[in-house]
Amino acid sequence: MPDFHFCILGSGSKGNACYVEADGEALLVDCGLSARTIGERLSEKNLDASKIGTVLLTHYHSDHIRGADVFLRRTGANVFATKDTLKRLPEEIQSGGRGFEVQPATQFEVGKMSVRAIPNSHDAPGTVSYSIAYLGRTFTIITDLGVANEHTHQAIAWSDVLVFESNHDLTMLEHGPYPWPLIRRIKSAGGHLSNEDSADAIKRSGSERMKLLVLAHLSEQNNSPEIALDTMKNAMRESSRLTKAKLMHAEPHDPSDVMEI
Ligand SMILES: [Zn+2]
Ligand SMILES: [Zn+2]
Repeated sequence: MPDFHFCILGSGSKGNACYVEADGEALLVDCGLSARTIGERLSEKNLDASKIGTVLLTHYHSDHIRGADVFLRRTGANVFATKDTLKRLPEEIQSGGRGFEVQPATQFEVGKMSVRAIPNSHDAPGTVSYSIAYLGRTFTIITDLGVANEHTHQAIAWSDVLVFESNHDLTMLEHGPYPWPLIRRIKSAGGHLSNEDSADAIKRSGSERMKLLVLAHLSEQNNSPEIALDTMKNAMRESSRLTKAKLMHAEPHDPSDVMEI
């Protein structure tokens, strides 16, 4: 097993969690699946839940924190999150010396991993994404953003492996089953990136470092993996910097392979 690797346990509005391990120590980015589902998907991939000493939360929407309470109680893991997210957790976790407040656009250490919180434009206050660096390589997971801001673009550029939102196809969203207020929310600066938005951001800021790009948080109603992958593939062809990057997508209900960073 390589010394720096990750596994996406689930991605999308039904629940998000991503396992990252460096030199035998692991963390979870988000805990939006039940503790039981997290345990099942980890063991399906031969990953050891007892290595997880830390959970990083991006924001308080339920698809990102739903399982946090039970998971943190069961494992005794520490939790890092911005103030607005942290205060949604049970008091005993906040005050029990296990909750650590993250300042957006700053860096902190988790074991041997160096973590940076990247501010997102999203409609939960204090939403951040995370870049995780170890031995000169950087893994970044960015989802839940209505527009890519300067921080997003920086993080895209410094990533060797990037998991990046490609939430919806605009035409499917506008003609799909969602009520108009929800459509408006998703399209807003506090919502989610469309396939086109995502492709534009990668085309603009993806660097030669990028060896793997994983499209994430795909809507099951308003997108399809084929459309999302095609849109991104076309954009990547137009950039000479991205010819070596592999492209794939994350599944909502199945864990990804365990992949080296
Ligand atoms: Zn989400
Ligand atoms: Zn969200």
